[in-house]
Amino acid sequence: MSAQIDRLTASTLNRFSGVRLDRLVDYRENSDWQKQQLQNHNTRLVPLWRSRCLVEKIGDNSYEAIYIHPSDLKHNNVIREPTLLGKKDDQVYFAVTVNDQQREQLLEQHKKGQFSDLRLLAADMHPLKAGILAYAKALHYWQHRHTFCGTCGAANSLRSGGHRMICSNTECGRQTFPRIDPAIIVLVSHGDACLLGRQASWSQNRFSTLAGFVEPGESLEDAVVREIWEEARVKLKTISYRSSQPWPFPAAAMAGFIAEATSRECEIGDNELETIRWFSSKELPQLLAKGELYMPNRVSIAFQLVSEWYLGQTGDDLSQLIHALQPAEAPDRIKNTC
Ligand SMILES: [Zn+2]
Repeated sequence: MSAQIDRLTASTLNRFSGVRLDRLVDYRENSDWQKQQLQNHNTRLVPLWRSRCLVEKIGDNSYEAIYIHPSDLKHNNVIREPTLLGKKDDQVYFAVTVNDQQREQLLEQHKKGQFSDLRLLAADMHPLKAGILAYAKALHYWQHRHTFCGTCGAANSLRSGGHRMICSNTECGRQTFPRIDPAIIVLVSHGDACLLGRQASWSQNRFSTLAGFVEPGESLEDAVVREIWEEARVKLKTISYRSSQPWPFPAAAMAGFIAEATSRECEIGDNELETIRWFSSKELPQLLAKGELYMPNRVSIAFQLVSEWYLGQTGDDLSQLIHALQPAEAPDRIKNTC
């Protein structure tokens, strides 16, 4: 990784980004074509069960996504029709929600398979495969949470290959499209230090960059200024957009920034965080070596922001440093699996 990276490259470095899938927008209304594709031996289904993805462990820490062929899925899918994801090379991909019976059947077919939380295993997965799973999971979550019309309460029906819903009450007819919650995430720096915080529920000594959702009536930059003040009572001098990341846990789009603080004065603001503190680039290796600091999950844009800052400060690669100093990473505590 170079210190001089353009924005497109920067976002591609973030897990789940850079999936150059042809989304086949022109075919979303063509249900006949989609039915044909579901008969095609080259078509692949991405199965999802309760927001979990089907994967197989390969090696010590690596996971491989398991795609299936439509004919592999016994028992008629009673949950909802497959969702058209897109095409890569010669393969068309659909996401499919499987029921408990189909889950059992798939695990029977794939003895080493498991339905798992994408956050916990995406770091060592092939980027394209991780990206396709994230895309499928985001649509699955939206469909699941919009089963009924938000206006009249009647059942919604899927349209546009799974990318649109319409209320079944013809007097209402409200349309719904996939929802994403914009959020900002910020590496705040001052001199040779960066500001990180931790929530009480995280595993011990895990710190991360500060983040929050964009509120109605705010620009992304407004949200950066407000969140950093609310969480840490820190004022900012400059804000620089760095990169973005789809974050389907459950439905965020993260916009990553690096901001410069006016001073190192700080205090816990709104009690969202248990601890905040400044870490200098010089002390980082010692703290990592002693296990007194764990970086954010490598899957997250937070890790990329800290890495970019650390590279700029020291010229060193943070991933390599962690690999050398912390061969066994502290496990993440994840309460729900949205
Ligand atoms: Zn309605």
